[in-house]
Amino acid sequence: MSSSEQPKREVMFQSTSSSGYSNGYHHGGGSGNGSGGTHVAAHRLRRGCSSRSRDYGSGSNLRVSNRMVQQQKEEDEDTATDGASNSCTGFDMAYFHSYAHLGVHEEMIKDRPRTESYRNAIFQHQDRIAGKVVVDVGCGTGILSIFCAHAGAKRVYAVDASNIAVQANEVVKANNLSDTVIVLHGRVEDVEIDEEVDVIVSEWMGYMLLYESMLGSVITARDRWLKPGGLILPSTATLYLALVTHPDRYSESIDFWRNVYGIDMSAMLPLAKQCAFEEPSIETITGENVLSWPHVVKHVDCYTVTLHELESVSSRFKFKSMMRDGNQRKKRAIPNEALVLSTAPEDPSTHWQQTLIYFYDPIEVEQDQVIEGSVTLSQSKENPRFMNIHLEYASNGRRFVKESVMR
Ligand code: SAH
Repeated sequence: MSSSEQPKREVMFQSTSSSGYSNGYHHGGGSGNGSGGTHVAAHRLRRGCSSRSRDYGSGSNLRVSNRMVQQQKEEDEDTATDGASNSCTGFDMAYFHSYAHLGVHEEMIKDRPRTESYRNAIFQHQDRIAGKVVVDVGCGTGILSIFCAHAGAKRVYAVDASNIAVQANEVVKANNLSDTVIVLHGRVEDVEIDEEVDVIVSEWMGYMLLYESMLGSVITARDRWLKPGGLILPSTATLYLALVTHPDRYSESIDFWRNVYGIDMSAMLPLAKQCAFEEPSIETITGENVLSWPHVVKHVDCYTVTLHELESVSSRFKFKSMMRDGNQRKKRAIPNEALVLSTAPEDPSTHWQQTLIYFYDPIEVEQDQVIEGSVTLSQSKENPRFMNIHLEYASNGRRFVKESVMR
């Protein structure tokens, strides 16, 4: 039975929320090409859509951060790059441009487990929101800000650096909420809010939870504006890793080349493995694919997490494989009835799907086989929104290493 590893995530709302995913691919040593080789520049930015149109326009009410305007100018002059921790880089600009495309927002809003979890969380916390000041970190279309306004917030600062903020402002006006919802078009790192806030709401989670590194902006907002004792939604997030098997995918992408219209194209195999499995793969799998209990790679407490601890996350795991015979795994218990947004394979699928890290060659796994190793996720030096994934594991006395970059 082949195996790979797969991260999954879940987010808990409450004074707690969590997010996690599992993915799994292994790369056997052996015949697979190691690392190196070329990457097809898949333009993944967070929710799968590549960047598009930018349209300028401005709603009368819309407050545009001057730094953003300055940065936009710099970018137009092709100078934005570098650097310094809080400055807006060319990578950031590309990232924000990707969110100007409505398709990304449509996909997120149509993701019912996601959007309904947020709405439920906001209304479950109505007693903490009504009459209070809220900041929505990355408001997109403004949907979460409007939920908060409906829950009785006194004022909501809806902040987004993408040009989608222009439309968000129009939506706010059309819903007669301009007195409550103030759209700020700029980065959370740059905009000014002249008061402390009671609540932070944000939908910051990327693939494999940490991809796209938006959590850093929530931390910035928290440290800039949140009152002591204030509420953060979601409040915790957890990234899980599990062993998975996905033989169909392997045969579609790899075995396919063994016989192509009667022609032996096995010469393609090394290249096929490289192309299919070099990078993490975002796919929807089911509980049937999962071969082990999940392992917690990272638990994030949004009240206390620091920028530093997100630079590199490491965890050791020890899996004992479980073959499928129908009754092995039950759903995890949810602690103290917290509202959880889960992206686990056994739960309804979401636009995050699961992130799979395939090994270049399948490994045989038997019941109760122990597979242990470690995983390290670190922000890429090349672009902090990319993620380097170092996966090491040992099975049946053999050691394997797989390095990949999620771009
Ligand atoms: N809250 C919306 C959109 C979530 S997508 C919803 O739930 O549907 C994340 C949004 O955050 C994107 O629109 C992106 O442009 C914005 N964003 C990410 N980092 C940001 C930052 N540092 N400052 C301002 N906006 C940011």
